[in-house]
Amino acid sequence: GLFVRDNEIVQAGPTATLPEIADTVIDAAGMIVLPGLVNTHHHLCQTLTRCIAQDSVLFDWLVTLYPIWARLTPEAVYVSAKVGLAELMLSGCTTSSDHLYIYPNGVRVDDEIQAAVELGIRFHATRGSMSLGRSQGGLPPDNCVEDEPFILRESRRAIETYHQADRFGMVRVALAPCSPFTVTADIMRSSAELARAYGVRLHTHLAETKDEEEFCLERFGARPVDYVASLGWTGPDVWHAHCVHLNTAEVSLFATTGSGVAHCPSSNMRLASGIAPVRAMRDAGVRVGLGVDGSASNDSSHLLAEARQAMLLQRMMGNPNALGAQEALEIATLGGASVLGRDDIGSLAAGMAADFIGYRLDRLSFAGARHDPLAALVFCTPPNVDLSVINGQVRV
Ligand code: ZN
Repeated sequence: GLFVRDNEIVQAGPTATLPEIADTVIDAAGMIVLPGLVNTHHHLCQTLTRCIAQDSVLFDWLVTLYPIWARLTPEAVYVSAKVGLAELMLSGCTTSSDHLYIYPNGVRVDDEIQAAVELGIRFHATRGSMSLGRSQGGLPPDNCVEDEPFILRESRRAIETYHQADRFGMVRVALAPCSPFTVTADIMRSSAELARAYGVRLHTHLAETKDEEEFCLERFGARPVDYVASLGWTGPDVWHAHCVHLNTAEVSLFATTGSGVAHCPSSNMRLASGIAPVRAMRDAGVRVGLGVDGSASNDSSHLLAEARQAMLLQRMMGNPNALGAQEALEIATLGGASVLGRDDIGSLAAGMAADFIGYRLDRLSFAGARHDPLAALVFCTPPNVDLSVINGQVRV
């Protein structure tokens, strides 16, 4: 049982030890109750462009989709965020980040923040960016990139308008130049300076594919990790999406600098990018969270399903002990909280945010597995929640 006051867990323990009287009582008998899951990487705007470029690797997939995304409108970003966040909440997610890096036709990061606030999910928006168009040697078409002074002005505005640094803050903002092949070194450096001046976090895509590695070696004479490290992009205030192609020294660098990783197994499989060395990262002490990644390279936003994918994919290295159900759920909760720099979510204990979820155990898909309900969540067909409470409010 949990005893909650306002938006905070005051007591956790056997129901008989909790106060006998409360304004609202939720009967969760027959459910397994967990801390809400934390999503550390997504592109909600892609919810409207699923099942496109079905058999492509990342670069071909992006080149197919850029011209479609160039037609996004503020309304499309708002609607797609509502769709993706609702899917996430039904799957058990109570805190999500999003990486919005394309701003055509008057789109602003405000459009997706509005959707998150209306749905009541805890939300880490990132003011992403692209500034290196095709004419400058980048991957995106020139009409998909922004001018760098404008990116910095908008980044500053987003932080000043929305970032809530206080404990239990419902909206936070981070800065997120898109990737080594879509932004300049200058905007990486200036975004890091701006973020650190405000005490907000930094996020980008890194070491996702072999193509990216070749691009970095050719253009910068360095592997992706060395390149971003030289720009100040390591540290406890940085988290990188994917990190599929890390060598042993790079895993150690992530551990010693406290840099976080958003592991996105479905997207890595869908685009044939490779298998991120999550076991090695965890053993080295790297902070790892889960990300469903964009709706167009997953093509779903089910975070519990992503925990299952993470567990199964890690075993493809040939070790059935590589990742178990409990550790997969730990990565999906405490791991994600740590990657997003939060010590107020990810566990059910006094002093933590009242973010918790419940799944009924009397469902067809758990038949035969109820001797281990926790494992059933990850091994069996991933269900939607029957209960979700976020910041003390019942949302599902
Ligand atoms: Zn991504």
